[in-house]
Amino acid sequence: MKRLPDWIRTRCRADRHETKLILRKHGLSTVCEEARCPNRSECFSKPTATFMILGHECTRNCGFCAVNSAPPGPPDPEEPERIAAAASELGLKYVVITSVTRDDLPDGGAGHFAKTIEAVRRSLPSSRIEVLTPDFLGDRESLKTVLAAGPDVFNHNVETIERLYRVVRPQAVFRRSLSVLTQARLIAPAIFVKSGFMLGLGETREEVTELLHLLAETGCEIVTIGQYLRPTGKNIPVVEYVRPEVFEEIRSAALGMGFRYVASAPLVRSSMNAEEMFRPASGR
Ligand code: SF4
Repeated sequence: MKRLPDWIRTRCRADRHETKLILRKHGLSTVCEEARCPNRSECFSKPTATFMILGHECTRNCGFCAVNSAPPGPPDPEEPERIAAAASELGLKYVVITSVTRDDLPDGGAGHFAKTIEAVRRSLPSSRIEVLTPDFLGDRESLKTVLAAGPDVFNHNVETIERLYRVVRPQAVFRRSLSVLTQARLIAPAIFVKSGFMLGLGETREEVTELLHLLAETGCEIVTIGQYLRPTGKNIPVVEYVRPEVFEEIRSAALGMGFRYVASAPLVRSSMNAEEMFRPASGR
């Protein structure tokens, strides 16, 4: 593995014990832990957490991801209420819900997302809700199901440039992911559309610029850009540690393309500080 450069420093605070206890009590997973996010100590100390629904096993096998690839079990019908209870106990004002990809389910898990959004709304009516979803194989009905439940933000990450999909997201299709964002914008214009990608996988600056233009064309309003960090030795290697000043240049260029909010720095992650991104983007 490449040695981490000086500018990638994760704050090693102790994980907030209470947050973990509440999550365990309700038998819940967070993507923060499953994906070995480098910011999990910082986020858990707030408290904030991104709930991962629909199980621990994923039907896909992305080169960058630490989630286990295996046939998943059936969705747990009580999970939406348990998420709502934990979010309420944690006193969250902004709840992020994500999932593994469930290509085995007829609706890709969209109905379960909708039930989870509805349960959180019932228990925390004034909280904001963001969903970070898989592509649902581009299925419009699944997208409509999720959006009809009324999240404040719909997030779907493209993760990387088109040329690298073969190794980074082998079962995904770049144009399909763009179409998911476009469809979300058209189906529910009042819901903010967000996406994100990683640097350091071998992309060129020109390819990043092209990706940003394509994202802007979908109607996506919020973009997150962070450094890829190899989560385990089984994942694809880091090609480059991109310097912070390059992230800043890309952020400025993206803002010039009309995005409402761009978070671009080595340790930026899709759902980290999601509330802080939502406020300036929405003006609310
Ligand atoms: S689809 Fe999502 S959870 Fe599944 S392997 Fe890819 S990144 Fe990980």
